[in-house]
Amino acid sequence: MSICCPSCGSLRVVARNQGRKIGGAIGAVGGTASGAAGAMAGAQSGALIGAFAGPIGITIGSLAGAILGGLAGGTAGGLAGAKMGEEFDSHVLDNYECHHCGVSFSQTEY
Ligand SMILES: [Zn+2]
Repeated sequence: MSICCPSCGSLRVVARNQGRKIGGAIGAVGGTASGAAGAMAGAQSGALIGAFAGPIGITIGSLAGAILGGLAGGTAGGLAGAKMGEEFDSHVLDNYECHHCGVSFSQTEY
């Protein structure tokens, strides 16, 4: 499927995906914040599990729990944000830009 410019008819059209980028960034920040909370919870449960193996187990357990909790939150947030931004791109923003005449436009469904 090719998209052509509504102004000049050129096929040199690129998707800008700005919403996707911004959404992904916002999502990653929000996700990292909730990931930090997840890291705390992960560290606590990790320390509990590790407690069976003594002091070293507590350290390793907290670290593993924190890393897993933080990663999971950040990744989930980033993905959700990017998805949200994508929706924004396709429905709200002028997601396409013509390289020939520079006009921005949103793709309309035919
Ligand atoms: Zn054009």
